[in-house]
Amino acid sequence: MESIFTYCPHCGSKEVEFPRLVRFLCHHCGFVYYHNIAAAVAVIFRRENEILFAVRNIDPDKGKLDLPGGFIDPDENAEAAACREVNEELGLQITPSQLKYVTTQPNNYLYKKVPYRTMDIFYECPLEVPVSVRAEDEIKSLQWIPIPEIDLSKIGFVSVRTVMEKYYLNL
Ligand SMILES: [Zn+2]
Repeated sequence: MESIFTYCPHCGSKEVEFPRLVRFLCHHCGFVYYHNIAAAVAVIFRRENEILFAVRNIDPDKGKLDLPGGFIDPDENAEAAACREVNEELGLQITPSQLKYVTTQPNNYLYKKVPYRTMDIFYECPLEVPVSVRAEDEIKSLQWIPIPEIDLSKIGFVSVRTVMEKYYLNL
């Protein structure tokens, strides 16, 4: 795998290593940086036998299906992040008590050549009211898809694909 950092950000040396893009080490000055996984949330909105998918309008995976959600901010808990992201993306007010924990699943998120690794936390939430896109820069459109008709090849992120396959399609 190509290294994403060529120089040490502390001393400028090129005597650096970054095996598996986990722990960056400068052999010249001893600088160490851990490229730790980031935490993210995804919300599975359910309306009877249908799940709400968002068509991504930005890379990575522009044009592919995704779930509402995003990265957890510093000092924010996962439920608050899920409510905030849903409000930002869909203009929908939900509360932590409506979220039912489903599972966690690792994901890869390549953004501007930096391969972030995340742990995605999945919640399910019932939804009866009509919903529309607020963050049109991020989401092109919304689709309610009946669970048996979910096409895994149209889902962008491996975490979402895995959760759909393990917890919904194989029930
Ligand atoms: Zn250094």
